[in-house]
Amino acid sequence: MEAFLRHRLATHRQAGLMRPTRTLQRAQHAHTQLEQQGLRNFSSNDYLGLASHPKLIRCLQESSTQWGVGAGASHLVSGHFQPHHELEQAIAAFTGRSRALLFSNGYMANLAVLSSLLGKGDTVLHDRLNHASLLDGGVLAGARFFRYRHLDLDHLQQRLQRATGHCVIASDGVFSMDGDVAPVLALSALARHANAYLMIDDAHGFGVLGARGAGLLEHVGATQEHVPILMGTFGKALGTAGAFVAGSDTLIEYLRQFARPYIYTTALPPALAAVTLESINLLEQESWRRRHLQHLIAYFQHEARRLALNVLPSQTAIQAVILGENTRTVQAAQQLLQKGFLVGAIRPPTVPKNSARLRITLSASHQLEDVQALLAALRQIA
Ligand SMILES: *Cc1c(COP(=O)(O)O)cnc(C)c1O
Repeated sequence: MEAFLRHRLATHRQAGLMRPTRTLQRAQHAHTQLEQQGLRNFSSNDYLGLASHPKLIRCLQESSTQWGVGAGASHLVSGHFQPHHELEQAIAAFTGRSRALLFSNGYMANLAVLSSLLGKGDTVLHDRLNHASLLDGGVLAGARFFRYRHLDLDHLQQRLQRATGHCVIASDGVFSMDGDVAPVLALSALARHANAYLMIDDAHGFGVLGARGAGLLEHVGATQEHVPILMGTFGKALGTAGAFVAGSDTLIEYLRQFARPYIYTTALPPALAAVTLESINLLEQESWRRRHLQHLIAYFQHEARRLALNVLPSQTAIQAVILGENTRTVQAAQQLLQKGFLVGAIRPPTVPKNSARLRITLSASHQLEDVQALLAALRQIA
C-alpha cells in the first residue's frame, strides 16, 4: 500500500497538481498574514467580510456562554437546541419556503439530499461543472447519472430522454470556479415538463445575490414551486459554518427521517447557530456590503477586460482569469504571492483540463484600492 501511495503522489507531483496547505496567522479578513508576510486576501469565500465581524464575534462569545461550545449529540438524539430551531425558522422565512433543515456543512447536505431521495434505477442529471459534493451524492445514491454540458439546456433535454425512475436535476446556482449562474427558471420549466425534481445548490449565491441577499432564487424570482430543493451554506457569505436545505414540509420531514448524513452526525454547536442567525440579520442591517461588493465586481470586470486579461464574464464575487496550463498557473499565483496577493491557483480535476486559472474572489471587506493594486499586479505578471 505505501509503495502504491508514493507512486500516485509522485505522478500527481509530476503533473503539477500537488496542493500545499497554507497556515494563516491571522483571522479571516481582506488582509491576512502568511509566514510574516502581510497579504491581501483574494482567495476566501467570505464575500461580505462577516467572518470576523465584531458584532458576530461578540454574539459568539455571548451565545457560547449561554449554550456552551458543543451540541453533544446528533439532532434526533439530544443535540437539537433552541438556536437550531430559531435558525431553521428564520431560514424558511428568509427564503420564502415551508421549512428548512440544518446540516453540518454543504458537502453533507448535498450527500443527504441525493442519497436519500434516489436509489438504484433512478437518475440524477448534473451540469458538468457541478460541485464535487453533488456528484458524490449521486454516486452514494447508486443512481444512474448523466452530466450535461455546462448551461446547455438542449443537451440536458437529450439526457432527460434517457432518464429512468425518479429523476433529480441538480445544479450549482453560482458556479464555484467560473462565477456564472444557472438559468434557474428555464431549468425549472424543463424539469416540470419532464416530471423531474429540481435542486439548486446556492452555496455562492446565498447572502450575496437578490435584493435582500436571499440568493440566486430571489434574484431571478424563483419560488419553491419553481425549485423544490434549495441548498445553501453558511461558511461562505454568512461567515460562519454549516448549511441548510429548504423546501416543502414533506421534503424536509423525509430528510429528517431518512437522510443518513443528517442523522448520523453531531449537530452544529448551538452557539454557531445563534451566530448564523445574527449573520442573517446583518444581511439586512448592513445591506451596503452587497452594494459595495457589486461595485467592486463591476469595476474588476471592466478593468480586467481593458487590460486584456482572459477573464470569464461574471456578475458574482467569483472572478476567473484563465491561463490554461497548470504549471504556468501555479507560477502566476506564486508571483502574485511575492507581490503580496493571495489568490487561488485552480487546476484539474477541480476544473476541466487546459483551463487552469487564477480564481479571484472579491469581498465587501476589500477597498477599491485593494482591487486596483491587484489589477496592477496582474498586469505586470501578464
Ligand atoms: C463550498 C460548496 C459546497 C460545500 O459547502 P461546505 O459547507 O463548505 O461543505 C457545496 N456546494 C458548492 C457549490 C460549494 O461551493
